[in-house]
Amino acid sequence: MQEEMIKSEKMKVVSEIAASVAHEVRNPLTAVRGFIQLLSDPKLSDRKRQEFSVITLEELDRAESIISDYLSLAKPQNEKLEPIFLEVELLKACQLLSSYANLQNVEIETDFAAPAAVRGNKSKFKQAMINIGKNAIEAMPDGGKLALNYVTDEHARTVTITIRDTGVGMNAEQLKRLGSPYYSTKDKGTGLGTMVIFSIIRGMNGHVEVQSKEGAGTTYLIRLPLHGR
Ligand code: ADP
Ligand code: MG
Repeated sequence: MQEEMIKSEKMKVVSEIAASVAHEVRNPLTAVRGFIQLLSDPKLSDRKRQEFSVITLEELDRAESIISDYLSLAKPQNEKLEPIFLEVELLKACQLLSSYANLQNVEIETDFAAPAAVRGNKSKFKQAMINIGKNAIEAMPDGGKLALNYVTDEHARTVTITIRDTGVGMNAEQLKRLGSPYYSTKDKGTGLGTMVIFSIIRGMNGHVEVQSKEGAGTTYLIRLPLHGR
């Protein structure tokens, strides 16, 4: 009986996720369609053509990452565990975020001291970082700074990644609701991004702390066990 209930609950979650994927993927697809139309203009300058091609590819990547993002929520098993070199993967995440940041006048600042590695699935980890970064950028509609760094604690064998934005911030009530499914304050938000972040970091035996102040900004502190050497 209980088993049955859990099953139908799961089915419900899966179908809700499917609906969100469809909804979120539609945005990049609409963008791609528009840019391909622009690209078919023979009078288009080479510079514009180049620029539009880049955006088109980025939007396709975005569609793909949305899909894999939600798939990872629905199907968490059978993933490859590997060492994740933070300076490498965080830099990649920043590169992926950079065009979005540029668009919003957000400056990304990184400070990666010594190399450090954690253990987990690279693409999931990157997804979590991108979800955090994306929210941070979206919280700074008038521009701002996104700062990323990490410090290791060799004694405790942990590393703490800090992602700080100078955005709109959240009040205590909003902070409390952060991570509950479908909680979003955005027009086209899904409220799944944060859920994915928490679930990925928890899956890596990590811990997420979020500090925020309305009108001042938000800081994500992610503590993870260091990968054993
Ligand atoms: P979505 O981005 O689709 O709204 P998320 O789960 O990623 O869904 O985020 C949920 C909500 O949490 C956002 O709508 C926003 O209100 C709040 N939020 C998340 N990160 C930040 C941040 N860095 N600054 C301010 N608000 C944030
Ligand atoms: Mg989000």
